[in-house]
Amino acid sequence: MENPKQLAIIVPAYNEEEILKQSAKTLVDLLQSLIEDKLIAANSYICFVNDGSRDQTWQIIEELSQESKYIKGIKLARNFGHQSALLAGLFEMQAELYVSIDADLQDDEKVIREMVLQNNGGFDVVYGVRAKREVDGFLKRATALGFYKLMALMGVQTVYNHADFRLLSNRAVEALKQFPETNLFLRGLVPLIGFVSTSVFYNRKARLAGETKYPLRKMLSFAWEGITSFSVQPLKIATVMGFLMCFVSFILLLYSLWAHYYGHTESGWTSLIFSIYFLGGVQLFCIGIIGEYMGKVYKEVKHRPRFIIEKKL
Ligand code: UDP
Ligand code: MG
Repeated sequence: MENPKQLAIIVPAYNEEEILKQSAKTLVDLLQSLIEDKLIAANSYICFVNDGSRDQTWQIIEELSQESKYIKGIKLARNFGHQSALLAGLFEMQAELYVSIDADLQDDEKVIREMVLQNNGGFDVVYGVRAKREVDGFLKRATALGFYKLMALMGVQTVYNHADFRLLSNRAVEALKQFPETNLFLRGLVPLIGFVSTSVFYNRKARLAGETKYPLRKMLSFAWEGITSFSVQPLKIATVMGFLMCFVSFILLLYSLWAHYYGHTESGWTSLIFSIYFLGGVQLFCIGIIGEYMGKVYKEVKHRPRFIIEKKL
């Protein structure tokens, strides 16, 4: 490589004291070998973002940064969550290339080399995609599959089996800065940037130490965040249900008129049963219409960029 680019590896860390030193060593070794092979610039570095940890995580980051010139750190004021920590690293650090990876290195750090090579080939975004899910338990596997299916159903464009292990070029990060939203769901936003992208595949490992910072409750709320930040589909449910209900109520009207005609009914039943279903349908339908407008307002208040320029002549 003629002019290797400066790489910043961004690593969010929340209560990761058990694993941090080991991960740092692995990443520094990797960084050095990439520098030796002239794939990245000599001033490349690793940045740990301490996301308001309550254990020794920040102290360890401080120590590590004194021991190694390759390690930097950012400390957030409190626990902002994984997505915000990641964004802080990407936005606050200067580099030509960024790779984000979890502190537990469950994602195979060795494919960072391949990501850099793909970037040399002209890709602004390189997604790390898990080829298999061998290490995950049944529950994690099933919920993950359901998650991607549901997202697709709701019209949210995501890369299947890709989480937050990815390479972004400098200009992709600059483009990301144009999305001012506070509800962050990065794996939904990055495809919206639209630069040329590709994927590299790897097998996810088990956590070396410590436990997951994403219990089921957090995972579900994250999925909900993704859907409600990217889709107004849930608001449309009322419209569709209301419409169906009105339709059903007319079938019911036919039935109740028939029942009335043959005298199977108490007096008053026919009109009552029809009006319950019909009014229910009309109400749902109206809520749905309000939802449609809410959806429009919701999209507007996000102030998402309407375009991102790829090239200028
Ligand atoms: N993390 C964070 N803030 C949080 C929760 C998690 O920065 O509030 C970090 C965590 O330190 C790790 C990454 O996000 O680097 C992913 O978390 P974890 O590995 O526990 O999730 P899992 O792999 O189990 O889904
Ligand atoms: Mg993990």
